[in-house]
Amino acid sequence: MVVVSYVTHLECSYTGKHYSSDGLHSVSDAGKPLMVRYDLGRLGREVSRADIEASSEPGFWRYSPLLPVAESEDRVSLGEVITPLVSLERSARLIGAAPGKVIVKDESRLPTGSFKARGLGLAVSMAKQLGVEHLAVPTNGNAGSALAAYASRAGIRATVLCPDNTPEINTRETEAQGGDTHLVNGLIGDCGRIIAEGSDDVGWFAVSTLKEPYRIEGKKTMGLELAEQMGWELPDVIFYPTGGGTGLIGMWKAFAELIELGWIECDLPRMVAVQSTGCAPMVKAWEQGLEFAEFWENAETDASGIRVPAALGDFLILRAVRESGGFAIAVSDEDIHRMAEGIGREEGLLMCPEGAATAAACKVALERGLIGLDDTVVLFNTATGLKYPMPEVASAIDKDSDIDYQMFG
Ligand SMILES: *Cc1c(COP(=O)(O)O)cnc(C)c1O
Repeated sequence: MVVVSYVTHLECSYTGKHYSSDGLHSVSDAGKPLMVRYDLGRLGREVSRADIEASSEPGFWRYSPLLPVAESEDRVSLGEVITPLVSLERSARLIGAAPGKVIVKDESRLPTGSFKARGLGLAVSMAKQLGVEHLAVPTNGNAGSALAAYASRAGIRATVLCPDNTPEINTRETEAQGGDTHLVNGLIGDCGRIIAEGSDDVGWFAVSTLKEPYRIEGKKTMGLELAEQMGWELPDVIFYPTGGGTGLIGMWKAFAELIELGWIECDLPRMVAVQSTGCAPMVKAWEQGLEFAEFWENAETDASGIRVPAALGDFLILRAVRESGGFAIAVSDEDIHRMAEGIGREEGLLMCPEGAATAAACKVALERGLIGLDDTVVLFNTATGLKYPMPEVASAIDKDSDIDYQMFG
C-alpha cells in the first residue's frame, strides 16, 4: 500500500521562512529547528478519525497520514506498540493524589525500551526515503540505541558518539544492535561538534535532537496516541521530563494539528516541563521570563535523558509551556530515586529516573497548589527502569541449613 504524503513544506520554527520538503535538511538559515507542515485541509477531507481507528499498522504508524513518510515500504518498523496508560492506584498516595487521577503513559514498552524509538524510527525512515546511507548521532544513551536498531533494520550505517560517562548498558545495547559506538572524553556537545566537523569527510548525516526535522514528527505521535486513547479527549495536565524537549514540542504540535483537523474539541492540557535541580536551564528561563535559556554549567543528574545543558528548541519549549498555561519545575535526584523506588514497590511499575521525576514534580505541584486534586494528570515514563541501577538483593539462603521460615512472614 502506498500512502499519500500530505507534507507541503518545511518551516523555520523561529522566522517562519518556508523550505522545500525535498532533499536533506538540517536546521534553517537562522540556525533554528525546521518543522514539517501539512495540507491539513486536504487531509481532513480525505482521512477521518474512524480511518485512523480502523488502522492495522503497528503502533504510531497508524498515524501515517499525519507523518512525512510517503511510501509505505520506507517505513522502518520493529513492531511498535500503542503504549499503555497505567493509572496509579496504590502508589497515588506517594504523590498526594487521589487513586486513578494520575496516569502513566508507559513508553518503556517500545522497541529499544525507550520513547526515542518514535523519533529515530521516523528519522531513519525518512533517511531511507531520501537515500541516506550513513547516519550519526551524539547521545547520552537512548537515542544511540534507538538509532542503531532502526538503522540496522533499514540497512543503513549508524555511528554513535557518547560521552565516556554514558551508562554502560546504553553503549553496550547500541553496539549490540549494530551501531558503530565510540566513547568521547567530553560532553554531548563535544560529540555533536565532532560529528558536525566530520560530515564532509565521512559523508554521514547527523540526526542530533532538533537538528533535522523528522525526529519531532515521531515524538509528536505521543500526543496523537494519547488523544485517541482517551477517546479524543486530553488530560488537564501533562508532566514531561524535558531534555532537548522534542516530545513536549512535538505533542504541542500534535494538539494544534488535531484542533485544525477538528479531531479534538477539548481544552488543551497544561504542559509542565520537568527537569532535575542538577540541570534545570528551562526552569531557570521560565522563572526569569526569558525567551531563550542560558547554558547550564556542570550539569549533573542520574536522569541522563534530561541531562541536557543547552537545547536548540529552548524557545519552543518555553513557548509551549507558556501558551498552555503550564510551568517548569525541578526536582532533586534524591526525590527522583525515592519516587522510583516507591512506585516500583507499591504499584509494580518500574519507572526510569526521568519518569520518576515527573511523579516527584507532580507531588510538589499538588503541594504548592499549582495543580488541583481534581485534575487528570498524565506522566510520561520515557524508558524502561531496567536500563538503570536497581536495588541490590542482600538476603541469601543456604539450601543445606535449617531454613528459618519466620523470615518470610
Ligand atoms: C531523551 C530522553 C528524555 C528527554 O526527551 P526530550 O524529548 O529530548 O526532552 C527523557 N527521558 C529519557 C529516558 C530520554 O532518553
